[in-house]
Amino acid sequence: MSVLVYIESPKGRIKKSGFEVAYYGSQLAKSLGTECIALLIGIANDAASVGQYGPSRIIHVNPDKDESFDSQNFTSIITKIALDHQSNIIILSNTATGKAITGRIGIKMNAGTVSGANSLPEVADGFVINKSVYSGKAIARYVIETENKVISVMGNTLQPQIIGSNISPETVQISNAPTRLKVIERKISEGIIPLPEAELVVSAGRGMKGPENWGIIEELASSLGATTACSRPVADSHWRPHHEHVGQTGVAIRPNLYIAVGISGAIQHLAGVNNSKVIVVINKDAEAPFFKAADYGVVGDLFEIVPKLTAAINKYKQQ
Ligand SMILES: Cc1cc2nc3c(=O)[nH]c(=O)nc-3n(C[C@H](O)[C@H](O)[C@H](O)COP(=O)(O)OP(=O)(O)OC[C@H]3O[C@@H](n4cnc5c(N)ncnc54)[C@H](O)[C@@H]3O)c2cc1C
Repeated sequence: MSVLVYIESPKGRIKKSGFEVAYYGSQLAKSLGTECIALLIGIANDAASVGQYGPSRIIHVNPDKDESFDSQNFTSIITKIALDHQSNIIILSNTATGKAITGRIGIKMNAGTVSGANSLPEVADGFVINKSVYSGKAIARYVIETENKVISVMGNTLQPQIIGSNISPETVQISNAPTRLKVIERKISEGIIPLPEAELVVSAGRGMKGPENWGIIEELASSLGATTACSRPVADSHWRPHHEHVGQTGVAIRPNLYIAVGISGAIQHLAGVNNSKVIVVINKDAEAPFFKAADYGVVGDLFEIVPKLTAAINKYKQQ
């Protein structure tokens, strides 16, 4: 028995969520008295550094190959490595990639599967794991009773801690199985922290009145080193790109800080953001529903408050 953790490395860069699941898997393995093995597929710079977060072995499949993500191929590689190493628990990040393969791996391994877990499993009496349900209004406790288990973990569930040191990866070559999928084009945004990985998010809604006013949101985000997001009507009106839309039908996020500017706080919006650790709401309507979910609220005109907040942050940074 061992815990196998799949670490994503798009364009050769290990994602922050990869270090999180490495730490998560090693903590789970520790509580079960077993070994945690990290798995990387394709080119990955600094694969050895994953060892710092607890896994005792690193297996690097096809380390010289620029592996485009293919859900069928990645599923076969991960399940093969799991079988070869008697790994009965497989951990993935709940990213777009993780979501695409968690269910497939679960079926191939005949495993009880929980996607979007937001806690470490409790293993003292059975195997119990928590995840948010009903748009974040409740927490469901899942009991996995099968021997094989597959879990995808929400970003920011555990802050990765350095508890080990670099480990030389063991390299393995696996020929790609024939696949029915063909990648025609890949578009990857550069230079920004993707929303699911962002620790700080500045988000704005229809209260902004129009796309021409977004400069103050970008300035606030840049002063904090935050990623920008928006409500759905903003993306639907093409004021902002669709990948920034958060909520029930957009990206679900869990940052340490979510600043909501001119967003009413409809249930469908809250569904994607109310697991944020700290929520700050800026809205001119004191009755806006978002204030009920807020840790801090400012009632007032965003066009006055946001530039003042940015100036205060910049001043603080200069001290
Ligand atoms: C099936 C379904 C799925 C949906 N999925 C999503 C989703 O995933 N994400 C999502 O966001 N929405 C979603 N919606 C839409 C959702 O119901 C709301 O309509 C939407 O979130 C409202 O966006 P908003 O808060 O930006 O706009 P509004 O509701 O128009 O709110 C604008 C806010 O700005 C404030 N404001 C205005 N001017 C100022 C100012 N000068 N200073 C300060 N505050 C100001 C107002 O007081 C108001 O609270 C969904 C709806 C449905 C039916």
